[in-house]
Amino acid sequence: MNDNCIFCKILKGEIPSAKIYEDEYTYAFLDISGDFYGHTLVIPKQHFENVLDCETTYLNAVINAVQTISNHYVNNCGFSGVNVFNNSGASAEQSVMHLHFHIVPRTSNDGYHVSPTNEGVKVDLSEVKAKLEVK
Ligand code: 5GP
Ligand code: ZN
Repeated sequence: MNDNCIFCKILKGEIPSAKIYEDEYTYAFLDISGDFYGHTLVIPKQHFENVLDCETTYLNAVINAVQTISNHYVNNCGFSGVNVFNNSGASAEQSVMHLHFHIVPRTSNDGYHVSPTNEGVKVDLSEVKAKLEVK
C-alpha cells in the first residue's frame, strides 16, 4: 500500500467507493466522474503504478476480473458491449498512479464516443514495424 495513493485509500476503506466486484487480488468500483453510465475501474489489491511494473499474478487477475465484470454487464445488465482501456504513464494521460483498467458498458444507441479518433498520424507501416517490433 502507498500512503499517498487515492486508490490504496479506497482499498483500505479510508475513502468510500461504490463496489462492483472483489476477489483475492482485485477490487472494482464505479468511477467518480459520472462521465459514462456504469464507468467502472478495476484495480489490483497491491499498489503497482501501471501495466509497466505490475506483477504478472496481479495483472492476470485484473484482466480476468475485467472479463468477469464485462460478461456480467452484457449477460445480466442489459448492455451489448464494453470499452476496456488503460492509461499507463503520465504521457499516456494516466492521472491516478495505481494500475486500473476502465470498463465502459455500451449499448448500440447510447450516443457515446469512447474510442480515440486521432487522425494526425500518416505513416509508413514498414518503417514503424522496423522501429517497434519485439525481437
Ligand atoms: P486515469 O486518467 O488515471 O486513467 O483515470 C483515473 C480515473 O480515476 C478517472 O476516470 C477519475 O474519474 C477516477 N477517480 C479519481 N479519483 C477518484 C476517486 O476518489 N474515486 C473514484 N471512484 N474514482 C476516482
Ligand atoms: Zn495505490
